[in-house]
Amino acid sequence: MEPLLLDREARREIWAVVEEAVEAYLAGVGDLPVAPRVGAERLREWLRPYDFQSPTAPLEAVRFAVEGLRSAQLHTSHPAYFGVFNPHPTTMGFFGEMLAGAFNPQLASWISSPFAIEVEQHTLRAVGGRVGFGEGCEGNFTSGGTEANHTAVLAALTERFADFTAKGVRGLPAQPTIYVATECHHSFVKAARLSGLGDLAVREIPVRADLKLDPVALDKAIDEDRRKGFLPFFAVATLGTTNAGVFDDVEAAAEVAQRQNVWLHLDAAWGGPAAIVPELSSLFAGVGRADSITIDAHKLFSVPMTAGMVWLRRQGLLEKTFRVGGTSYMPPGSKHADQVFHPYAQSMGWSRRFVGLKLFLSLAVAGWDGYRETFRRQCRLADRLRAGLGGWKILNDTKLPVVCFTRDGLDVEAFAKRLADSGKTWVTTTKLGSAGTPCLRAGITNFRTDEKDIDALLTCLDGSQPCGTS
Ligand SMILES: *Cc1c(COP(=O)(O)O)cnc(C)c1O
Repeated sequence: MEPLLLDREARREIWAVVEEAVEAYLAGVGDLPVAPRVGAERLREWLRPYDFQSPTAPLEAVRFAVEGLRSAQLHTSHPAYFGVFNPHPTTMGFFGEMLAGAFNPQLASWISSPFAIEVEQHTLRAVGGRVGFGEGCEGNFTSGGTEANHTAVLAALTERFADFTAKGVRGLPAQPTIYVATECHHSFVKAARLSGLGDLAVREIPVRADLKLDPVALDKAIDEDRRKGFLPFFAVATLGTTNAGVFDDVEAAAEVAQRQNVWLHLDAAWGGPAAIVPELSSLFAGVGRADSITIDAHKLFSVPMTAGMVWLRRQGLLEKTFRVGGTSYMPPGSKHADQVFHPYAQSMGWSRRFVGLKLFLSLAVAGWDGYRETFRRQCRLADRLRAGLGGWKILNDTKLPVVCFTRDGLDVEAFAKRLADSGKTWVTTTKLGSAGTPCLRAGITNFRTDEKDIDALLTCLDGSQPCGTS
């Protein structure tokens, strides 16, 4: 038997075991502890027999992986998982992952994977169009929101500073600076570091009491930096903050960006898909004035880990940012006759997997309507949670399904740990706003969470009965 391929019979057995394991997980994940506790010692003990000196039977290896995943991970597919935005994966999403793995298209160039690249570009046009980045814009799939945000920073540096591509930041006359609100995602610090700007290039503007970007403070900070000789070039507005689901006022941010002539990037990693819900679309007013946007498909769209997306307003800039010359082993880039998309020349990577298939298949089967109804249901569940939090103080104001709350004098860390130890539910803690107020944070991220899960969470929070009995 060829060990890298296995024979037909061995594959048949694996299909059967995998099918059974996945179906058992889908049916029974709610009966597992949300956050199983297995220490590193024990895991290393389990792994010790795998010294790779003698072969393991395929079924034994697969069963080992299934058992490990069942017993040693935080189950984001558990209906009582109320943590940060990690999804229960869509079924079409994981079939997409499996097909991408089995057929293994290489997405470096259009020539090697025309179908895969057209599927991705088609999906990007469809989703981009929903958030004001349709016709005339360009986009790409990325490993996640972090790479998407980093892409936007690099594109802005490339567009704003003629010498950046050849000479890097050392070729610039002064230090370029980035403006984010204190509630922004920390991926911008990484982007600054990886772009050669350094952490100190990131200016954190204190948010207002409502946890939104303060456009007046943003304007002032840019003025001040200009006076000191810095080169302000990039500002971020967040559509759905990681902490609290708060949407910055894009119109106000765009006013400042326009007046100050800085690039406006929208980090809609989580909140972006909400644009398809008409009653939430006012949150997206002004998006047409931004230069770039990030959306993660592995958050509200619930595809398996991971799939980021980034769009730029102006075509040709991705290529200007990423294309390097002298690559005679690769096909010519899109400026040549065929005018097709070659991700290797328009993104950070060279070899790339078919990231977009899981979103394409999920959208094809659920449709906008399916997703819209799911988002609405999740919002209603968050309303139910808010309504039940009578004895608590709710600290965030958002229409989206994430609730930050506390009680006077509460030790939030100890309280959250007690909930987690029960195995029956999972909420996280965070610190909110410029004052860094500690609180509990419950997000409805799982499309299978329902009313009784919310009621059970409320019972846990109320503490009058042992956690999990509603
Ligand atoms: C999750 C998130 C990111 C980071 O995205 P990854 O896919 O985890 O890299 C960036 N910004 C916001 C607002 C997020 O919620």
